[in-house]
Amino acid sequence: MGCDRDGMIWDELNEECGVFGIYGHPEAARLTYYGLHALQHRGQESAGICASDGERLTFHRGMGLVTEVFDAARLAKLRGHMAIGHVRYTTAGESRLENAQPLVFTTGAGSMALAHNGNLVNYRRIKHRLERQGSLFQTSSDTEVIAHLIARSGCEEIADGLRHALAQIQGAYALLVMTERKLVVALDPNGIRPLSLGRLGDGYVVASETCAFDAVGATYVRDVEPGELLVIDEGGLSCERFSAHARRAICTFEYIYFARPDSDVGGLNVHLARKRLGRKLAEEAPVDADVVTGVPDSSISAAIGYAEATGIPYELGLIKNRYVGRTFIQPTQALRAQGVRMKLSAVRQVVAGKRVVMIDDSIVRGTTSRHIVQLLREAGAKEVHVRISSPPVRHPCFYGIDTSTREELIAATRSVEEIRRAIGADSLYFLSLEGMLEAIGRPDGEADRGHCLACFTGCYPTALDDALASHGAEAGGARTRGRDS
Ligand code: SF4
Repeated sequence: MGCDRDGMIWDELNEECGVFGIYGHPEAARLTYYGLHALQHRGQESAGICASDGERLTFHRGMGLVTEVFDAARLAKLRGHMAIGHVRYTTAGESRLENAQPLVFTTGAGSMALAHNGNLVNYRRIKHRLERQGSLFQTSSDTEVIAHLIARSGCEEIADGLRHALAQIQGAYALLVMTERKLVVALDPNGIRPLSLGRLGDGYVVASETCAFDAVGATYVRDVEPGELLVIDEGGLSCERFSAHARRAICTFEYIYFARPDSDVGGLNVHLARKRLGRKLAEEAPVDADVVTGVPDSSISAAIGYAEATGIPYELGLIKNRYVGRTFIQPTQALRAQGVRMKLSAVRQVVAGKRVVMIDDSIVRGTTSRHIVQLLREAGAKEVHVRISSPPVRHPCFYGIDTSTREELIAATRSVEEIRRAIGADSLYFLSLEGMLEAIGRPDGEADRGHCLACFTGCYPTALDDALASHGAEAGGARTRGRDS
């Protein structure tokens, strides 16, 4: 389902952030604005851009959408040939302006700006240690510990300071650090969040998703490798590994739900990957039906795949109202069904009297699925068969995705039959783990084909450290592979 800031009425997964960086273009801030606009689906709570003209950093951040935070006058003040930008959805730290990124700091060695996608799993422990040593924190964001570690390293060179910081942090991070003269990029040793490198003229761009390259006319070069550090400055681009090899574990939900269909993640187009998920679902769980429909937007590709594989016609049975904005008055818990109605409607002429296959990408708490099944029935659907293009989500995410606590995840405590009854469907099927990996897995022989599967299996690709301690029983059954297994 689409990633929205109206989580009150939409109980699905939310991505934390998107990052964009550019070096070597006279209109760096303006292009960052366009890049962030393409990444808006990854976070709608705040947006920010920091630019450098080689002498000083200027920045602006605000709460809201990219188009709400920036206008032409504000962008014109962000001068220089390099810039980094960020869109944010809060999962670590509170939703307030101080936590909006890029975070900008002044140290003895100069200024630096940071933009981070992902969550650190050991930031509380590091933060407590640094506070005992006298550090004063300005935000409740996990990203600020990275800035403090860099500042306290005593290194003159930003890349040296960042190496020092990276040796201490664990978790998921696609990280951009900019000083007056350099852009430094790092991806965590498991490569949990996506990050790609592109070219624009003689300059370089980096972005969470390749759709941002298309938005600015850049050419995709390659994905940033897990455990890789890139330094871009007037000497050009230099690349190195900052960590020993760890298991590649890109977030599977990037393919299932988060990333835009026109993006390529790990070399695979997201729309085509979703279509394959739908085809696999059709192989595993065919059903006699008259029409296939997908829950907009992210389930439409899988629904097309399901329809192609079964020969059942695909139809637009559900329509999304795109104009549920930030100022929309959120319904109370008692009016939750009303909230779903404001956001989705069923097309009566398409579903009335029909046996409908409703494809969705995931079920988190189950409340939204129940309301959508009800919408289809109210529009006259004779039968509603729900097919989910991912396995049941049974474990929380600690890497930057807001999956709720384990108790709130309906599949953590209920069987498929119990969930079917709870959402009121005639039948329900979740894609198998093997089927999902076959549909989207890279044939590279790595464990789990290079994907993080933790929210399905409870087997986490990194140590969990204080993330586990802070969630306690919520993480029930969590296991970790450790960094090098
Ligand atoms: S736990 Fe799930 S949502 Fe989180 S990074 Fe892993 S696959 Fe993605």
